[in-house]
Amino acid sequence: MPDLPKILVIGSANMDMVIQTSHFPKPGETIIGGHFSLIPGGKGANQAVAAARLGGSVAFITQLGTDVFGNTSLENFKKEGIDTSRIRQNPHQPSGVALITVDGHGENTIIVAPGANNHLREEDIQAAENYFLEASIVLIQLEIPLQVVLASVQMAKKYGKKLILNPAPASQLSAEYYDGLYMITPNETEIELLSGIKIVDERSAKSAAAVLASKGAQHIVITLGASGAYVYSEEFTGILPTEKVKAVDTTAAGDTFNGALAVALGNGRTIKEAVAFALKAATLSVQKLGAQSSIPHLSELK
Ligand code: ADP
Repeated sequence: MPDLPKILVIGSANMDMVIQTSHFPKPGETIIGGHFSLIPGGKGANQAVAAARLGGSVAFITQLGTDVFGNTSLENFKKEGIDTSRIRQNPHQPSGVALITVDGHGENTIIVAPGANNHLREEDIQAAENYFLEASIVLIQLEIPLQVVLASVQMAKKYGKKLILNPAPASQLSAEYYDGLYMITPNETEIELLSGIKIVDERSAKSAAAVLASKGAQHIVITLGASGAYVYSEEFTGILPTEKVKAVDTTAAGDTFNGALAVALGNGRTIKEAVAFALKAATLSVQKLGAQSSIPHLSELK
């Protein structure tokens, strides 16, 4: 069997606590809700799990608390076959959590307490230098302190490694983030914030991508939900459509897309082939409920 591509994922890990409810409580009100579920999430964790399930040899850098959620998350990553040796448990911070309520109409309220995720530091990146050296692909998002993202972009550049920046949740980025950046993967909302151009058709997608390319991003992949993805690169430019399916829950669709993309690029696929693989994986994920529960395994793509 050929060696699996080494994927280094840097990002957040949360525990999502979800309560179903008939209606939302008003301030000061207590109500009895319905079913409760505890679901591992966080963009970094989701993307690490996606890359591991889809054929990557994954190492994950994140920060957890020493509480029950941190311990559960750590065990969960190990079960997924993820290298956890660069995950730090901070005894002074709670693990990241999201309190989510969902009503019968699919409306929700969400409060995220980032906790330990906000305490990831540049030193955690410096200490993982060997992981950068060995990685085929580095994958990162914006749910952690921005200076950690910048340190990662710069470390990848130093070693000539391909880094994929998934700019989620949307945030403005200064010029230094784009300098030497291999790939950026915004969705429609995120690229609008980054480029100032609203995506309404292929032409506007091209103009928006060109703005990021002029800042230094080498490859731009815009995810377009049910319409697939728009690719802007020297190798290929245009929309790659995805299969029409009945979407039941799009949570973690973007995370599945990014994890899959990293694995395919790590396997030496062309940009077009890698995006096609990522679309296939993400479109499978929207047909199942939940975040990590919806991320497919490689065997389901064949
Ligand atoms: P995000 O989840 O980050 O907002 P998108 O909504 O663009 O990102 O979705 C990412 C990918 O998930 C899409 O490129 C597509 O492959 C898949 N996807 C999302 N929504 C649907 C849908 N309704 N039908 C089919 N595929 C979908």
